[in-house]
Amino acid sequence: MASTLFDITGRIALVTGSSRGIGRAIADGLADAGAIVVLNGLDPARLAATQADFARRHGAERIHALAFDVTDADAVASAIQSIEDEIGPLRILVNNAGVQHRVPMLDLDVADWERVMKTNLTSAFLVGREAARQMIPRGEGTIINIASVQTDLARPTIAPYTVSKGGIRNLTRAMTAEWAAHGLQINAIAPGYIHTEMTQNLVDDETFNAWILGRTPAHRWGTIDDLVGPALWLAGDGSKFVNGQVIFIDGGMTVVV
Ligand code: NDP
Repeated sequence: MASTLFDITGRIALVTGSSRGIGRAIADGLADAGAIVVLNGLDPARLAATQADFARRHGAERIHALAFDVTDADAVASAIQSIEDEIGPLRILVNNAGVQHRVPMLDLDVADWERVMKTNLTSAFLVGREAARQMIPRGEGTIINIASVQTDLARPTIAPYTVSKGGIRNLTRAMTAEWAAHGLQINAIAPGYIHTEMTQNLVDDETFNAWILGRTPAHRWGTIDDLVGPALWLAGDGSKFVNGQVIFIDGGMTVVV
């Protein structure tokens, strides 16, 4: 029983922003569990390197890569169509691509506000909508949106990020409200502070690092591997009646003051 609950063998999964960082780790976990994985990123060289590494470890026939900009509606539509036409029915979508931009709000340019909102929030709507257009007629599909502790918590200097990740919570709910009746399952994973390239400068900052350790009941940074188990649980049949939720994976950060 347990093995079928968590078996995703042969399911086609697109993970946006999976050329590195959290998306790469989740894609790796899905491939380990038997999925056919479509990697994505902007930089073709970095994406190709990740694809080559995955192909070596998981078998080239199960690893695909599509470089496209998740903020470009036309590029998103043609990418989803080409997955459907050339690989097969998309079953799992992880909306992971995201960017950070740190500047006090009084100095924040509207162009940077819009770039962060488009990359972190509008993209999840665009890719989610195109995926759902394919999944709904089939009556099955899983969408996992990557949120953040900033879905719940604000901090100085990251206003657009906080707003975009708060939006991911309600986008997850809106998708659930409209699509769950058609057999789709939509949830969000909200990572705490995870050590990746995006956060390397914070890890290197002694004061910030000490603050994170003190602020986190588990007293450590998260690792990308901490996110893989929850993603697998949401991707498989073991979580079928979990819908519209934001699952915080943060060592307890958001439950203490
Ligand atoms: P990284 O900066 O390590 O990786 C970002 C990935 O997104 C890369 O693959 C990048 O591609 C891709 N990407 C960025 N913009 C676009 C775009 N417009 N179109 C397609 N791909 C794009 O980020 P993380 O792994 O740290 O973060 C991943 C997600 O997790 C984000 O949504 C982030 O907000 C969230 N998160 C991260 C936390 C952390 O502590 N790191 C904590 C909580 C949430 P390329 O390599 O080509 O640039």
